[in-house]
Amino acid sequence: MTTEHTAVLSQVAEFVERTHGSFIDGQPFKPNGSGSMHVFNPASGEALSCYQPASAEDVDRAVNSAYRAFRSGVWSKLAPNVRERTLLTFATLVEEHGEELAQLEALNQGKSINVARGIDVGASVDYMRYMAGWTTKIEGQTLEVSIPVPQGASFNAYTRREPAGVVAGIVPWNFPMMIALWKVMPALACGCSVVIKPADETPLTALRLAELARDAGIPDGIFNVIVGKGAEAGAALVSHPLVNKVSFTGSTAVGKQVGIAALENMTRFTLELGGKNPMLILEDADIEQAVGGAIGGGLLNQGQVCAAASRIYVHKSQYKKFVEALASAVKKMKVGAGMDPSSEITALVSEKQLASVEGYLEAARKEGAVFAAGGEKSELPGYFVNPTVLSDVDQSMTCVQEEIFGPVLSVVPFDSVEDALMKVNDSRYGLTASIWSNDLSRVMKLIPEIEAGTVWVNNHVPVDPNLPFGGFKQSGMGREFGKSAIEGFTELKSVCITY
Ligand code: NAD
Repeated sequence: MTTEHTAVLSQVAEFVERTHGSFIDGQPFKPNGSGSMHVFNPASGEALSCYQPASAEDVDRAVNSAYRAFRSGVWSKLAPNVRERTLLTFATLVEEHGEELAQLEALNQGKSINVARGIDVGASVDYMRYMAGWTTKIEGQTLEVSIPVPQGASFNAYTRREPAGVVAGIVPWNFPMMIALWKVMPALACGCSVVIKPADETPLTALRLAELARDAGIPDGIFNVIVGKGAEAGAALVSHPLVNKVSFTGSTAVGKQVGIAALENMTRFTLELGGKNPMLILEDADIEQAVGGAIGGGLLNQGQVCAAASRIYVHKSQYKKFVEALASAVKKMKVGAGMDPSSEITALVSEKQLASVEGYLEAARKEGAVFAAGGEKSELPGYFVNPTVLSDVDQSMTCVQEEIFGPVLSVVPFDSVEDALMKVNDSRYGLTASIWSNDLSRVMKLIPEIEAGTVWVNNHVPVDPNLPFGGFKQSGMGREFGKSAIEGFTELKSVCITY
């Protein structure tokens, strides 16, 4: 490492040195003789840490621990303000250990230490406090009923929200800690217990979170983590009969398998899946602002963001100007290790993801796209791809149709708003979209026409804990965040009292 890199904290060095296992019933759990899996540092391609993957039997142990803890009422029956205070203590511990967690995330995921500090830790702590607040605000309704019998009787009818039970949280590798907390916090606020399964590539921060949850006073068995392969540990978890709710974030292909497995047991599920998110830049848009938006919204975390802008539709009158300005800005971006705070584009998560992005670049080349910037692997030793701008692409090309999940922006011209709208909605995905214009009347007419769970105007990618997040079409089912998350981790019970 060069001197400009962030110095690794001693507790981080110590943590990665360990051979990890799962975290069950309030303590680390190591299976007997199941072999071990490496965790890599994407900036170097070298092994960073290792863990012993959970078997189906270990998953059963974790789910049973979560089930026992849930049924005992040790968490679900606590006074809401006591649960709230415990969750706020958990948030404070995450904040106090923020630098340690940010370093673990940058080293394991490859991301920029700045992003890890600001988003993975900073935004997560805000989210934790927001969700802790819901603990004391879960409510039902009192309803008027018109039941005719017994004659003359009176009724008191109301609904109450009860915790769903044992929650399985399946997490992807792009924001490992933040997305784990998107599941853990609302589930715990509702009184559920959880078993989290981090992605095979990025298990470290979820394991550290489990330790911090225990230190915050969250009872044993309420927060479990199982580490292991998706097709084994993940599949065993989502099909376990004692799991009452599956909250999955990941690819559409795996999400469908998870939904089908959950349905076998009639387990409730929420799916947050892939995206191929458009930016729609109208002729009156401020091009400088839109270029900044494309970089911020499209290249954050090397484009490994489900909501990332990746197909950019620009009115033909501004097309050339936009492509030139975007390509020029992208060429100046510094590519380097995540632990170097001056790096603007850092490593992709894995060798597999690098090969996948290179495959898409090769397809774009074959299909005739023009590389206005980038288009190749960087010369650095890890999993780096130079930020890429593809121009002269048309709607049918692979780079416009498929989620690349890398630092690749495809820019497509359009003639009229009708033409643009058709292209924007011509996707199997519908997670997010953005419109760039100051023409209020056109913007307001476009918003209802766009098939996406979130539409931003003159911005792309900010999310807020209070604003529901999820997808139309093949981008998922259900919503996370806000009141929607609380509804997702509770069952609705109707009560009718005759008197
Ligand atoms: P993935 O679908 O390959 O894996 C996601 C998780 O599922 C991992 O923990 C994996 O181990 C597990 N898994 C794999 N097979 C399983 C099975 N049969 N049963 C249960 N679990 C299984 O996704 P990924 O490559 O980790 O993440 C990238 C994808 O996630 C992209 O498509 C991206 O768009 C999507 N994503 C969506 C959101 C969102 O909120 N919509 C957020 C982040 C990422």
